[in-house]
Order: sequence, then C-alpha cells, then structure tokens
Amino acid sequence: MRIARVTCFRQLQPFADGPYVLSGGRVDLGFDSLVVRLVTDAGVEGWGEMSPLGTMYDPAFAEGAFAAAPILSAALLGSPVAAVARTLDATLKGHPYAKSAFDMAAWDALGRAAGLPLHDLLGGADGQGTTLYRSIGRAEPEAMAAKAAEYRARGYRRLQVKVGGDPGADEAGLRAVLAAVPDAQLYCDANGGWQTGDARRFLAATAALPYVLEQPCATMRENLLLRAHAARPMVLDESIATLADAVEAADAGIDGITIKIARVGGITPTRVIRDAAVALGMMVTVEDTGGADIDTAAMAHLSISTPSARRAHTVDFHHWVTVANGVGLPDTDGGMLRPPRGHGLGIDVFVDALGDPVHDEGASS
Ligand SMILES: [Mg+2]
Repeated sequence: MRIARVTCFRQLQPFADGPYVLSGGRVDLGFDSLVVRLVTDAGVEGWGEMSPLGTMYDPAFAEGAFAAAPILSAALLGSPVAAVARTLDATLKGHPYAKSAFDMAAWDALGRAAGLPLHDLLGGADGQGTTLYRSIGRAEPEAMAAKAAEYRARGYRRLQVKVGGDPGADEAGLRAVLAAVPDAQLYCDANGGWQTGDARRFLAATAALPYVLEQPCATMRENLLLRAHAARPMVLDESIATLADAVEAADAGIDGITIKIARVGGITPTRVIRDAAVALGMMVTVEDTGGADIDTAAMAHLSISTPSARRAHTVDFHHWVTVANGVGLPDTDGGMLRPPRGHGLGIDVFVDALGDPVHDEGASS
C-alpha cells in the first residue's frame, strides 16, 4: 500500500480558557495546527496533526512545519505507508516536529486498512482510560486557587501547577492550590524556568508538601545535578527529545518522563522511547505540544497501550480549544481519556472545518 496523495491543512485553535502562561513570561493564546491527510493507492485515508506550542516552548515553530510540508509531501508520494518514518528521515535531517503529522497519518491509514483501532497496533489496551490533568498557569495565588477548584469541579483530579519563576511566589501559588483542592494530585512544572539555586530554594521551602517535581531547569545537566537534592519524585519533559535522553534520565534516577509526540517526531519514535522507558522502569506520560481531536486521539491510543503500572497521565487537548477537527473521542467523565473505538485513530475528520488546503500533492494522479 503506497501513498497516492498528501494534502496539508492549517487550523488555528484558540484556547477556551484564556492565555496559557509559562515561566519566563511565555504566553500563548492557542495552537497553530498542521493537519495532514494521506490517501493510499488502495483508497484508504489517514489523518495526522501537529502543533507546536508557540515559538518558545520547544525548538519548533508552526512556520517551520509549513515550510517543510511540501518537501515531505513530495517525498512521500509513492512511498510505502509502512515505511513513512524511514522516508521522512531520509528526506529531512532533524526537524522531528515537522514530520510528526505525516507519521501519525500513516499509522491512522495502517489501522484503518487493518480494521483495528490504533492501540491494537501499539501493544493493546491496558485498562479503560488514562488519567487526565489540567494546567494551572502562573498567576496570583487566589486566581490559581480558583482555577484549580474549577478544574476539580469539572472532574480533573490531577493538576499541573506552573512554577519556574520567583521561588517565593511559586511556593505561595502551590500552597494556595493545595488549600483549594486538597484531594488533587499535583505536579509542579517549572518548564525549565529555574536556575539550580532557585529550584533548591523551592524544594527546601516545600519539603513537607505533596507534589511531583517536573522539569525544574532547562538543561539535562542541571536537572540531573539537582536530582540528588530532591527526595520527591522527579520527572522530565522538555529534556526528553530522543531515546538517548530517556536512557540518560533513567541512569540518573529520574522517576518518569513525558514523551511529546511532536518533539520526538511522530508515533513511530514515541513508541520506541515509550517501550524503552517502560523497560527501564520509569513512569511514562505520552502527550503532545498541541492540537485538537486528531492529535488527542493519538495521545489516547499511545497512552492506553502503555502498561497501566507505568502510565502516568495525559491531556485532552480537544477540550482546551474552541474549535474541533473531528469526532470520535468518548466523553472524558471522571477525568479519564478513553480511546476512540473506530479503526486507526478512530476520528471522523471535519474536512470542512479545515478550510482550503495549504498544500496538495498528487491530486491530479
Ligand atoms: Mg511539562
């Protein structure tokens, strides 16, 4: 089964809950999403999606993906669907985020052709769903507490508190959230915003509080040096871009990693890193840097096929944004993300919601 047509769309996806505020003054208002449709010579469709989070979250930006899309589309024409990851890597060095939607679309097509939901190709479902978390952006403590209470009332039992600025202010935000939602499980995510000294100060001031520390500093070296100072569980996110990063983290006693599908380059490398991380004994979160229904479905399938004993949590990005690009995801009652039941990703895509294609390769063949 070979690829006969590649069509690329662009969808802007504003955040439903207002600006997303990270350490370092980073603010984003929504996702700028590349949506890819593959059609095979057997007439099977496959869909994929990728959106970086602005320009300052990862070494990725939407314009880069749209610039790479015609080059990758041309290379994929005539390529075996099963070999898409290899074709992408042979065409463009690096730029994993630019490849992610194409790789995802190939997996969707393979699942549809096989008549199986994607998780059956990725290890099989273990359990019914994956715990969802929501992020509490950096703000005044009262505002953070109010947002935490709102999310808890909406069924989310796991919350990510954004930190990574002034350690004293971050401590106040954490204490306010803990007081507002004492039964929630908390992660404090600095998004690499702290110097090691800031992180040690925060750790000392909050030693008695229950939370998991996430990505305190920017570099792998800083985070691994900090590991000895943190008795509590510590996970890395932005530092995990390759399999080698995951192995290095495991060797240093890091408890868990977050694999972002776009950051590593699609479902193919995500699966490799996920399975290695599980074998190394780490907790694993599979999520992504942005997107709506198509991308959320990919997170749902990868997450549910991660062994439940090693599965941490994920996100329901389709509920973060004001627009949809398909239907098929079950309700997230109880703060759980369940995978669609259909074949492949299991999403019926709203083609009309995507507007005119920004690129179309093979349309006349
Ligand atoms: Mg994170």
